[in-house]
Amino acid sequence: MTCPDLSSCRPETRLVHEGQNRTPYGETSEALFLTQGFVYESAESAERRFLNEEQGYSYTRYSNPTVAAFEERIAALEGAEMAQATATGMAAVTAAMMGQVRAGDHVVAARALFGSCRWIVEDLLPRFGVGCTLVDGPDLDAWRRAVRPATTAFLLETPSNPSLEIIDIAGVAAIAREAGATLTVDNVFATPLFQKPLALGADCVVYSATKHIDGQGRCLGGVVLASRAFIETKVQQFLRMTGPSISPFNAWVLLKGLETLPLRVERQTATAGFLADALHDHPKVRRLTYPGRPDHPQAALIARQMSGGSTMIALEVREGKAGAFRFMNALRLIRISNNLGDAKSLVTHPATTTHGRFAPELRAQMGITDGLVRLSVGLEHPEDLLADLVQALGGV
Ligand SMILES: *Cc1c(COP(=O)(O)O)cnc(C)c1O
Repeated sequence: MTCPDLSSCRPETRLVHEGQNRTPYGETSEALFLTQGFVYESAESAERRFLNEEQGYSYTRYSNPTVAAFEERIAALEGAEMAQATATGMAAVTAAMMGQVRAGDHVVAARALFGSCRWIVEDLLPRFGVGCTLVDGPDLDAWRRAVRPATTAFLLETPSNPSLEIIDIAGVAAIAREAGATLTVDNVFATPLFQKPLALGADCVVYSATKHIDGQGRCLGGVVLASRAFIETKVQQFLRMTGPSISPFNAWVLLKGLETLPLRVERQTATAGFLADALHDHPKVRRLTYPGRPDHPQAALIARQMSGGSTMIALEVREGKAGAFRFMNALRLIRISNNLGDAKSLVTHPATTTHGRFAPELRAQMGITDGLVRLSVGLEHPEDLLADLVQALGGV
């Protein structure tokens, strides 16, 4: 089968070629435009560009050719009309949420959110008169009950960090639509390869590109994806005026990261599946959650809305915090870090780091026990990783 034009090609092909706009030098790799600004042919041209009557760039806080190449490439993968890159994943979440609300509005969000995202909805938005209700994400009735006349926006993350709980995107999207609200999905854990929130009815998708999209621990970045109307009316002006712009250098790294994203994520997911199966019945493991195993409590929903498992495993070791710390400290190959989606396998103890600021009852509501360890599976050989995990569990 041939692929007559790029737009009808498969994701692997588009991730190598989309967004490339060669300069007259005919470079093979995408050019990196490290420039703050651009010069104009004439005063008339500058005037037209400021009036939006002429195509072209004016200032990198607004847009930049390298950043645009990254945006076009990820928009093609996501199936979104438009993307806006940001300095970090949190800048993307903040712009997506702040851009949609004003004083008097109300937001509903799933309780099991990335720590900083929870701060945005729970602490930041209320300072500006935007109310927020947190709900148990998998419980669709809880979303329905939380809706008020002023509800403007819903926010969720699935699979959630770190408990790998799944939320029914199509189900929540239908409730949002009925309420006249929008749904924003933080799709970091699923990656743009394994879950398509827009196709499931969401209005907006956000990523921390710091994770799988870079995937090699080099730079921070984020992106907001939605319809052209959504981006232009809610997100673009907020980003342009408040200024959390991505560096063209970081955008270039992420653009190149997209070329190998499918290879890395598929390999990391296959290894995660292998490790989850191998460790599931280990005597030192109290509970192992992996969204690719048939015993995941929401396996049917996963089969409906995801086309792959995950590069992440949540494993609860015996003997609580002491057991978790002994296990983590005994690892030799796998390192302790709060990053994820990296080529290097990494472990985190959420209860004392990423979610340490929450009271124990709140952590319990999010499924974060003292023995829980989050494992981000990298690109090492599966047998080497298994050997390291098994020797470290031996010390628990
Ligand atoms: C890392 C992460 C973020 C924040 O991204 P940064 O690039 O660190 O700002 C947001 N949501 C989820 C689910 C994440 O894993």
